[in-house]
Amino acid sequence: MINEEDIGGVHIKYLYHCRRQLWLYLRGIRPEHLSAAVRSGEAVHDTSYTRNTPVDLGAAQLDFVDGAHWVHEVKSSSRPNPADEAQGRHYCHRLHRVGIDAQGTILHYPKTRRTGRFPYTPEAATQAEADIVEVLAVAAADSSPNRLPRSACQGCSFTDYCWTE
Ligand code: SF4
Repeated sequence: MINEEDIGGVHIKYLYHCRRQLWLYLRGIRPEHLSAAVRSGEAVHDTSYTRNTPVDLGAAQLDFVDGAHWVHEVKSSSRPNPADEAQGRHYCHRLHRVGIDAQGTILHYPKTRRTGRFPYTPEAATQAEADIVEVLAVAAADSSPNRLPRSACQGCSFTDYCWTE
């Protein structure tokens, strides 16, 4: 069974995208290596911000933290979305847990040259705690959550698993 310290950015991203995806992932099902979308995301990481070293917080791996304690994350999608924002909140939470007063997250979208800035407010800290509780609740579920509507599954690396009858 997963515990709080094991929760990383992928868990939070899946929580926001699809609870079934999170539940499958928690049970060791990892089809990402088959997914062109994920490979593309890794390529963005490989070619952008190469001067920075990822920060290892155990289960949580974030791209980098600047001198003013803002977390920077490089994303392969086009614009900020709730899952990316939630990941950033989680990293800020983890940094606070180890005594670094993270100020918030700056999300970078090289494809569209956009950035999104999300301060780690008291409300964000409360939501980060709530997200952890939700991940643990999904992990404790005996059966997989229902599928999303098929239209919401586009690009998900679990599509074959969920939709091959
Ligand atoms: S294919 Fe759809 S239902 Fe299955 S895990 Fe992905 S988003 Fe969820």
